[in-house]
Amino acid sequence: MKVLVATEKPFAKAAVDGIRGIVEGAGHTLALLEKYTKVEDLYAAVSDANALIVRSDKVTREVINSAKNLKIVVRAGAGFDNLDLPACTERGIVAMNTPGQNSNAVAELAIGMMIYASRNCFTPGTGVELKGKTLGIHAFGNVGRLVAKLGQGFGMNIVAFDPFVSAEAIRNAGATPVNSIEELYEKSNYLSLHIPATNETKKSVGYELMKRMPKGAVLINTARKEVINEEELVKILEERVDIKYITDIAADIQATLNEKFGVRVFASPKKMGAETAEANINAGLAAANQIIKFFATGDKTFQLNK
Ligand code: NAD
Repeated sequence: MKVLVATEKPFAKAAVDGIRGIVEGAGHTLALLEKYTKVEDLYAAVSDANALIVRSDKVTREVINSAKNLKIVVRAGAGFDNLDLPACTERGIVAMNTPGQNSNAVAELAIGMMIYASRNCFTPGTGVELKGKTLGIHAFGNVGRLVAKLGQGFGMNIVAFDPFVSAEAIRNAGATPVNSIEELYEKSNYLSLHIPATNETKKSVGYELMKRMPKGAVLINTARKEVINEEELVKILEERVDIKYITDIAADIQATLNEKFGVRVFASPKKMGAETAEANINAGLAAANQIIKFFATGDKTFQLNK
């Protein structure tokens, strides 16, 4: 079988070496398409591939149509909004992600962003400590749980909201479940966003929720820019000069935000939550292992389009 790794933003060399070892060790061949600048190059490269590994690369219906022999596509990472799942399903292609493999990297960044915000965004002046403050976790998945654990280490009180995770599971992880999303925002001095971008969550965080946050609150977004209602974000930042917005994924209107709100807003120059050597390797190797297992035994453990 031919396994194509198509990465506009390539994996680290150690990850590629590891992927090659797994793929070739199982008797398959590996093809690499890195730093491609034209989507046509992806269409050509995928035309005879049986398996595809991508990072944030968009696997559109056009990509799927070009991939006549494709059986499986794996997004090396957690969020899978870059995969056209219906197009995969129509063609009987198994789509997977690699959940949990980059969670620690993202969780550490979220905490780093909290420290940055609590110390006046690294400008002179007196800051505050995280200890004793309330940290709200919006979505208690792989990343949210780790942020909760790290926050506990800083002596923070952790509250969490996730309609798909039981109150018992949240309590067992040392956090306090809240009854509603509104309550979560009312209680959180620091609110860390970990919801996936879905039809339900897109533009779901805006004025009505943020106006409930306590004085001096900070919203940390290491999830997706799409979950924020950007017009309403401007409105609340104008109205509440005490609130800060720190994000790993620049808003579409980031230049306007920077100009209007100065150090009260910050965006990573390029999304870097999962950009650690460890996460890169973990996600890449997991993707290769999932493909090998799928070809060997039909294993579909992390299938998204069931
Ligand atoms: P996950 O799948 O482990 O957890 C997602 C959680 O969201 C689940 O517990 C689910 O129950 C919950 N959820 C779904 N819909 C919800 C809703 N409407 N309200 C509240 N909770 C809801 O994913 P994860 O690994 O924790 O990652 C979370 C998100 O972070 C990903 O979807 C991805 O978009 C983003 N992410 C960003 C980076 C980065 O580089 N910044 C890296 C990894 C993940």
